Amino acid sequence: MSTAATSFPERNAAEAADLVLASEATEPKVLARRARQRRQMYVGQVASYSLGAFVLLLYAHDGVISTDIASLFWFGGLLIIGTFAVLSEAGIGDKRDDHYLTVFQISAHMALQFAFLVAAPAIGIAFISVLFLIFAFGTLRMTSAQAMFTWVLAATGLAVVFLASDLPIGMPVATRLQRGTSMLCFVLVIGQCAFLGLFGATLRKALYRRSIELKAAYRRIEELAELDELTGSYNRRCIMRLLDAEIAKSRPAATPFAIALIDLDWFKRINDAHGHPVGDEVLRTFAITIFANIRPDDRFGRYGGEEFLLLLPDTDGRAASRMLERLRTIVADLDWSAFSPGMRVTISAGVVTLRDSDTADTFLARADSALYSAKAQGRNRIATN
Ligand code: GH3
Ligand code: MG
Ligand code: MG
Repeated sequence: MSTAATSFPERNAAEAADLVLASEATEPKVLARRARQRRQMYVGQVASYSLGAFVLLLYAHDGVISTDIASLFWFGGLLIIGTFAVLSEAGIGDKRDDHYLTVFQISAHMALQFAFLVAAPAIGIAFISVLFLIFAFGTLRMTSAQAMFTWVLAATGLAVVFLASDLPIGMPVATRLQRGTSMLCFVLVIGQCAFLGLFGATLRKALYRRSIELKAAYRRIEELAELDELTGSYNRRCIMRLLDAEIAKSRPAATPFAIALIDLDWFKRINDAHGHPVGDEVLRTFAITIFANIRPDDRFGRYGGEEFLLLLPDTDGRAASRMLERLRTIVADLDWSAFSPGMRVTISAGVVTLRDSDTADTFLARADSALYSAKAQGRNRIATN
């Protein structure tokens, strides 16, 4: 009977899955969406009870039951749906994990089936088959404890009807119409179960897609936590971590490891002459230029301000100096006049290779002192230490 006819299209699947964090659950947007989903579900339930009542009318037409049973069944269903719709509009379920109040709905609908099972045992199997539909609906929302609870309720009801009474529970098949109606009864229940199954599948798809989106978002957060916002190079924390890692890697492998501390020359003047935003653009362009001219295994990060650290694994001192000399030339030869007529940008760098006695701190201190000599010798040059 209870058809959770929530939006079917793929695009609404994530919404239909109702996947929200607890903190989002009280947001007006989320509350409104949930109320809308519940309304759709109640419309589905009305349709479902109407189909059921139609089947009962067919039985009544053949004289198996009285027409009153059919109309009472319909009104009984509408009464339950109406009650839950009123509760839903009043926002009663909104504070609960399960805003559909699934267990209460299932219990009420089950009670109705049992009442009619007792009132019209001649078509009792029809009402029992509806129990399957009710449980199919319930599995979309229930926890295992709730499923257990409602199953015990159903089992108790069935025990009372089958064991504690002598009710002649049946399924009429004496005439063509009765056979057809009994068949229709099962066909409709199976159809509605299949509909719910489809709905469950869209929920699973939505969950799967959400998990992929979450993974992508997590990766992005990780990236953002590692990158410098302005230049897209690694931030200081990350490049320092990579420095430690590279030292730890190159020691046992006995491979050479070089680093370069690179600083833009007279950068304060660039800022002063052209403005801070232009200075930012220069930093960005400088970083892009470096990225375009280093190897995949090299690591480039912003050490601070206009000072950058380049890690060159598996590189000896001469190769490192050659590489930095190449980078220096590329930066110096770049046409910076696009930023501002007559602008020139150069870099100085201190290049050092790892020694046995080095810690990360002494390694960096040697690079810093090499950089200092490059500056002292007139800038736009590479120095080693
Ligand atoms: P030197 O050749 O000795 O390195 O001279 P310099 O002017 O480059 O060095 P100094 O340390 O005096 O100035 C560095 C300047 O870099 C000062 C600071 O405002 C600027 N700077 C640091 N970070 C940024 C940034 O993110 N954006 C911009 N536009 N400027 C920055
Ligand atoms: Mg500088
Ligand atoms: Mg500096």
